[in-house]
Amino acid sequence: MKATFEQNDALIIVDVQNDFCPGGKLALDEGDEVVPVINALSAQAQEAGIPVFVSRDWHPRHHVSFDERGGPWPEHCVQDTKGAEFHPDLILPENARLVSKGARFDIDQYSAFDKTGLVSELVHLNIKRVWVVGLALEVCVKATALDATKNDYETFLVEEGTRFIDRADAEKAREELREAGVIFK
Ligand SMILES: [Zn+2]
Repeated sequence: MKATFEQNDALIIVDVQNDFCPGGKLALDEGDEVVPVINALSAQAQEAGIPVFVSRDWHPRHHVSFDERGGPWPEHCVQDTKGAEFHPDLILPENARLVSKGARFDIDQYSAFDKTGLVSELVHLNIKRVWVVGLALEVCVKATALDATKNDYETFLVEEGTRFIDRADAEKAREELREAGVIFK
């Protein structure tokens, strides 16, 4: 997959962390298969001078989103654990901008835009279009891409660079994303 990057584009890589890959605590069957695709895209972005944002789920211990607290998910991506680290084969540009989310005690944040300050950074860089990839399609990738459209960014989602947890949920997510104007690549 080659992206057709233009000036004023940004690449947003969502949550390519060990816990979402095979062997992790909230593993997607083929979560690790996005890694080579994303490595190629981020190399291409770097070559084109396109800023790369990398989000990570970054939960405190006993986070409200965990089942022990009545949340929907098993424990995952606890701060400073192996599971919260990026996949070891993920190659990030040195100047990649890190977006941490889910670090608050009181709420969960699926979207890289949700109270992270990402929009102000995109405005500062004069970004007009964003490319979204990562994990998982029907959760944090969907939330991020929808928020991008809500903030009036032309939004591309690279299918090869994402994987889902549940096939039916992923199909619903695709519909929702298309309706919101997200362009699938
Ligand atoms: Zn989480």
